[in-house]
Formats: sequence, C-alpha cells, structure tokens
Amino acid sequence: MSLNPIIKAYGQPFKGAYKKIERYIKEAKAIVVYRHIKPDFDALGTQMGLVTFLKDNFPDKEIRFVGDDHVSFTPRLFPVSERLPASFYESKKFLAIIVDVGDDSRIADPRYKEAEHIVKFDHHPYKEQVAEVEVLDLEAGAASEIVVDFCLHFKGTRISKEAARYFYIGLVGDTGCFRYPSTSMHTLTVAGELMASGIDHAKIIREMFQKKLDDLRSQAYVLNHFYVSEHGVAYYTLPSSVQKELDITPERGKENVNIFSNIEGIGAWCSITEDPDPKDYCWRVSIRSKEKDISGVAQKWGGGGHKNASGARIDDIKDLDKFIADLDALFA
Ligand code: AMP
Repeated sequence: MSLNPIIKAYGQPFKGAYKKIERYIKEAKAIVVYRHIKPDFDALGTQMGLVTFLKDNFPDKEIRFVGDDHVSFTPRLFPVSERLPASFYESKKFLAIIVDVGDDSRIADPRYKEAEHIVKFDHHPYKEQVAEVEVLDLEAGAASEIVVDFCLHFKGTRISKEAARYFYIGLVGDTGCFRYPSTSMHTLTVAGELMASGIDHAKIIREMFQKKLDDLRSQAYVLNHFYVSEHGVAYYTLPSSVQKELDITPERGKENVNIFSNIEGIGAWCSITEDPDPKDYCWRVSIRSKEKDISGVAQKWGGGGHKNASGARIDDIKDLDKFIADLDALFA
C-alpha cells in the first residue's frame, strides 16, 4: 500500500537515517530497546510498541527491553521490564535502539554503550550525541509519533494491533489526549494509521486514565491545598507525611497536576512532591503550561523537558518561593 502523503513528506528529511537503521535492524541478531528513567506513557508506549513491532516482523531475532518499571502502569498497561544479566552483554553483539530520551544520564541502563551500533529516536531538546544515527524532531507530539513514522516507511513490515496499542498509548500520553499545541497534522495522521490496525482507541484511553475510588482522596487533597501565584501559576506540595496519609508513593505525586489545565487565568501549574530517597533527597517537580515555554525554568532547576511539559527538582523546600517566582516571572 502506498504511503499517506503526510507520512511520506515527514519522513523525507530522515530518509538516510531510516535506511541506515533498517539495515542495522536487518543485520542484527539481537536488539535491545532502551528509554528514559522514571518512564511515562510515551517512554513505555514507544519502547513496547517498537519491541512488539520488531518481534512481529523479525521473529528470528532476539528482541529485549530494559529499564525501571512504573509504579502504577506496570503491569496494568505494560509488561514488567527485563533484567539482562551481565552475561548477555559479555557474549552478544547487539543493536541498541534508544527512544524518547536525549541525554546519557537519563537512559535507563548505561550498558547501551556496549552495543555494536546505537541509534536513537527522540523529541527532547538536544543535549549531546549518544548514538551513531539520531532521528530527532523536537516538534513531535510524542516519541511514538516519530517511531511509528519510521515503521510505516519500513518496506515489507506491518504494525500489528498489539504494537499499535502501545504506540497509541505513547501518542495519547504525551499529547494530553491530542490537546497540547504539539499535536500536528502528522500526529493525527499517525493516530489514524494506528487506528487502521484495528485498535479500540476509546478503550485504550479508558484504561490509561482509569482511577480507583481511593485516588479521589488525593484529588480532594490537591483541590483543598493548592496555591496560586500572583500571575497565575497554580501549585501544590505533597510532603512525605501527606503521601503517607493518602497512601501514595512519590512517583504518584504528579498524577493530579492537570487538574489546573483548563482553568481561566492559570498559565502554568505544577506538583511538588517530597522524595525522601536517602541517596537523592529532593522535591520532585512536574511543570505543565498552556502556552508559555517552561523548559528554561525546568533546566535552571535541575531538570528539563518540553515547552509545555517539563520536570525539575527543588533540593531544599526553603527555595520553593524562589522557584515559583521564576515561573511567575514568565507571566508578569
Ligand atoms: P514529568 O513531569 O516527570 O512527567 O516530565 C515531563 C516531561 O519532562 C517528560 O517528557 C520528561 O521526559 C521530561 N523531563 C522530566 N525531567 C527531566 C530532566 N531532568 N531532564 C530532561 N527532561 C526531563
């Protein structure tokens, strides 16, 4: 079947990179797919979509996936990640495919460096070269959007319903259900191509955002304890004592951050969650915005990310007001 013209045009600048990656995939006996630490829907969806695509189309190859699991998405939406023994790395030549992460320190297993070839698909701001072939689109709504484009260009392959389900999770996750400004004609064309694989898109979204009755207690806490800065930055803090009360872990602190996404007068919003990890104590911050680019503030505060969705950290909660002032200044 001929390629949709929007897909064809998008892949044009990546043609050389796509061909090289196709060749590496065909030549490899073993392939390991990597993604970022503290994974989200897009990291896991892109990783598992690609793993499934490779297994479906190249059943004779050994396809592996590694990384830390998600506290509530695993195993509900994604399988538990594999733990590759040291012997795998000692005895095997393999291709490393990195998805949805731009810099070495955030790749959820440093042993990708031991691969014979390393390739990468990403949409995060560029920090450093980690791969021999890098397919980058900083404007892409999700990493899965780029990887699906690559798969659609790969002649003689098909995207199965199972692979499409994972990719769709990535697409929906990072575009906030196609609401964020990063959603483009290409994003929606990719979504259409995935739907053509027969996925139940409504069911996927239901499963992704399914909550338990108990989760409403956390939501109620946030609604009763948020603050708004002078120029419209909404935020809430979740100290460890409150997390204990609500029976949640630090990873779940950001779950209610988008409560503020559609509120008039609120331009940016964030969750600030205490992480008592003795090896890396901090307050984890998830920042979201309607339109303003908040990634610069995230970078200043030990993090990074995208224009409208970034992560950061506050090492000492005494600095909370300074952090909020930095965000607030974007709207002054
Ligand atoms: P989060 O608030 O953790 O969901 O992160 C929002 C987005 O920012 C995701 O796409 C993350 O990959 C990205 N992000 C979070 N923390 C960092 C960081 N320290 N460096 C670069 N990107 C980050």
